[in-house]
Amino acid sequence: MRIDVLTLFPESFKPLEESILERARSSGKIEINIINIRDYSKDKHKKCDDYTFGGGPGMLMMPQPIYDSITSIDGFETAHKIYLSPRGKTYSQMRAKELATFDHLIFLCGHYEGVDQRILDLLIDEEISIGDYVLTGGELPAMVVIDSVSRLVSGVLGDDESAEIESFENELLEYPQYTKPREFNGMSVPEILLSGDHKKIDNWRLQKSIEITKERRPDLYEKYLNKKS
Ligand code: SAM
Repeated sequence: MRIDVLTLFPESFKPLEESILERARSSGKIEINIINIRDYSKDKHKKCDDYTFGGGPGMLMMPQPIYDSITSIDGFETAHKIYLSPRGKTYSQMRAKELATFDHLIFLCGHYEGVDQRILDLLIDEEISIGDYVLTGGELPAMVVIDSVSRLVSGVLGDDESAEIESFENELLEYPQYTKPREFNGMSVPEILLSGDHKKIDNWRLQKSIEITKERRPDLYEKYLNKKS
């Protein structure tokens, strides 16, 4: 998969150079290019924002540098182009799975009050919000989406890091997990997990997932029940 990110703050993307994402990049499973929108500004001071027509507080990102930076990307016409925005549809694991099937994603990170509407109308296929709160810029949301999508790209996770038995699979949150030692601070690992009886263990895990989901996410639990019936 190829990913291009357009931002005014390319330095923010250091976290993508760590762990599984770094492995995915160096093995060639994912190629990530960070593009500085400012490099495309035709203004002599490389200015990329201005006041909004009609008044109101704050600055808006101007269309020209964004337009030129997106259209300079090889294959931008067919790539799926995403703008991170509190106005977008709320992101989910389901959408991550769908995005993981694309060959080429482009992410536009807003800043200040956001971007000129004409860019969204002309070039953007989808707006994604990572939750009902407002962040300073689209850089953290872009990294959230890139991280969650990348780990679902075939071959990125090793066998011991399967994404198949995680929270949100089958509308359930994950069951509790334990590692060594068997006793910690007077607390023991549940006996059943040491029994070697895989059928019983699977059943215990499913029951725990159901309990946790029912308690913490009644909305998901409702979906689980509807899917089952
Ligand atoms: N004026 C905008 C509004 O009220 O919707 C908020 C702009 S915000 C300060 C600046 C940028 O941060 C946005 O253009 C967007 O790219 C990003 N952003 C902020 N919150 C976000 C969220 N919850 N999800 C995705 N992107 C977000």
